[in-house]
Amino acid sequence: MEKRSDEKCTGLLTLDVEDWEHANFAQLEPLRDPIARTVRERRYAMDANTDAWIALLAETGARSTCFVLGDFARRYPEAVKRLHAAGHEIASHGDTHALIYRMSREQFRVFLEKGLAAVGELIGETPRGFRAPSWSVDPKRTPWFCEELKARGLVYDSSVFPVRTPLFGQGDSPLAPYWEAGIYRVPVTVLTLGGFRLPFSSGAFFRLSPLPLIRHGLSRAGRAGLPVMVVLHPRELDPGHPRLPLRGWERSVHYARLGTTVPKLRSLLREFHWTSIAEAYGEVLG
Ligand SMILES: [Zn+2]
Repeated sequence: MEKRSDEKCTGLLTLDVEDWEHANFAQLEPLRDPIARTVRERRYAMDANTDAWIALLAETGARSTCFVLGDFARRYPEAVKRLHAAGHEIASHGDTHALIYRMSREQFRVFLEKGLAAVGELIGETPRGFRAPSWSVDPKRTPWFCEELKARGLVYDSSVFPVRTPLFGQGDSPLAPYWEAGIYRVPVTVLTLGGFRLPFSSGAFFRLSPLPLIRHGLSRAGRAGLPVMVVLHPRELDPGHPRLPLRGWERSVHYARLGTTVPKLRSLLREFHWTSIAEAYGEVLG
């Protein structure tokens, strides 16, 4: 990515705009009904966190890409409009937080159309970018993925997680953006150390990584001309949000170090020049 005259490295700030119960852990699957009931009873206002995102980023004039879930757009339509009005790019995170590799191509088409419509109606334009819930696409199980995005008028995708983790990702995916079936694919940033790839800038990895490591990893990616990307979620801005009935290491990871998100984000907002994916790659995307 280009350096600006103020010598700050340009980064891509992204927010996966979903509610506190949107997570894909196998242990939660039998609990879907009680969780849905709890969501209704708690009436937690997640839009306070998207408003906090707007306010935080306004402190330094940063722009972001917000990948909005259809479920969120239906619950909080005004919040999506406020993100859009504040100058943030509105892209799609799908309709529900279902895993795409469990869908047939036809099911994905319906899912995508519903997700795009839910968001598009609010902002008066069709989103240009997409990110899969829980990075749930891969060449083997969803080989039709980019063709379907292209057919619905999308131009880029940010669902490439180029490191294998217990829950998602592919260790052999490219680190640099690339074209596939007419879709520009922009991978998440990873740190390469002695042949290993280390995630550090997204969700739980962002919360668990010390700030100097995040800063180092992002700067190194910038010097190498690779995407400099941070991925966060509205719930991570409020450590007091309701908890899912998770157990074991998945509970630890899902809720680890929530209180570090905002202070780290504040530092990074000052140290980098942040923008949306559509703006950063405007020339390539046309
Ligand atoms: Zn998500």
